[in-house]
Amino acid sequence: MSYTKHTAPLIFSGDGEVWENTVVITDKDGTILALEDIQNHDAASIIQMEGALVPGFINTHCHLELSHMKGLVPTGTMLIPFITQVVKYRDFPQEAIDEAIIKADREMYERGIAAVGDISNKADTFSTKEKSKIKYHTFVEMFDFLNPTMTAGCITQYEAVYDQHHKTKDKFSYVPHAPYTVSPSLFEFINSQNEKHDITVSIHNQETKAENDLFLTKQGEFIDFYASFGIDLKDFKATGKNSIHYALAHMDSRKKTLFVHNTMCTDEDIQSAIQWNENTYFSTCANANLYIENAIPKYTRFINANAKMTIGTDSLTSNWQLCIFEEIKTIYKYCSYIDIPTIITWACANGAKALGFDDELGTISVGKKPGLVLCPIYRKEKSYHLGEGYSKRII
Ligand SMILES: [Zn+2]
Repeated sequence: MSYTKHTAPLIFSGDGEVWENTVVITDKDGTILALEDIQNHDAASIIQMEGALVPGFINTHCHLELSHMKGLVPTGTMLIPFITQVVKYRDFPQEAIDEAIIKADREMYERGIAAVGDISNKADTFSTKEKSKIKYHTFVEMFDFLNPTMTAGCITQYEAVYDQHHKTKDKFSYVPHAPYTVSPSLFEFINSQNEKHDITVSIHNQETKAENDLFLTKQGEFIDFYASFGIDLKDFKATGKNSIHYALAHMDSRKKTLFVHNTMCTDEDIQSAIQWNENTYFSTCANANLYIENAIPKYTRFINANAKMTIGTDSLTSNWQLCIFEEIKTIYKYCSYIDIPTIITWACANGAKALGFDDELGTISVGKKPGLVLCPIYRKEKSYHLGEGYSKRII
């Protein structure tokens, strides 16, 4: 059997450990055959690299189908003006949309992303995903603007998207868009459709203060936003609690669930979500939060609650690139109290568990085929630091 030996000064396991003086031995398909002491190998037989080897990254939140809008929407507008702008850019030639999807998928792979949790409102990405070297969990995302008169139409529209996905090899599920756009009856439909499948569900959560305001008092910017689209909210009643509690009341607590963004989560919100479901995961999209709201979540709250953190890029409409290593850099730049092995655990092992790909991905372990990524991470006395440069897939 042919095999390859790689080493670098640092090797991150993907779930918290860091090894030195270690050789990673893989077969020709990239399956890890062994991890061995460098002393036992002839140096000439090993490919030596500078920096650190990390398992393939898991991007738990992306919208690949929005890749063609890169750079179009200005930064720092806040979420509601951002969404209003995105809606304006609906009419693009299909060719430009398709080309941008193919390019973004390739770039994610080259920067070391091994699996993606990807939101789809359309079927535009399905043919690229089918051919991709990346594993995808597609989330067919639904919303009826909290409006029971729109639920049936929404179901018809998204059943058509879901059925097209049926023909592809990847994992897929129906998911609610966000607490502020999904009625109780639409949540019921989503739960019933996912019931028999071993899949993950995701929901955008507490990305902006206005979302909590809507649920606390039925006031704030979302009221004007809905009015501007001519949608009435007469069936919606404020719950008097932050928005996540509405999601917890209507989602299926037996499903692995990813809450995405969470910029406005309180300690109580985080604890409630963890108590609700032992398979609660949180996806942080730091660069997208900075792009849209110039904000970043309070990570100490999640760490103190022992929350299972994962990392997403969101879309090229709200990010400068789709690269998990760039997310790691940003998290560490603004919150260097979190050590690098911990952030890598968010980006690798936790993400793989969240999307159900942990049998193959997420850690450098014998028998898995996680991909190997070379990153500019170096030792600095007892800790680590991030150098200039980018991540690069080597296997
Ligand atoms: Zn999103």
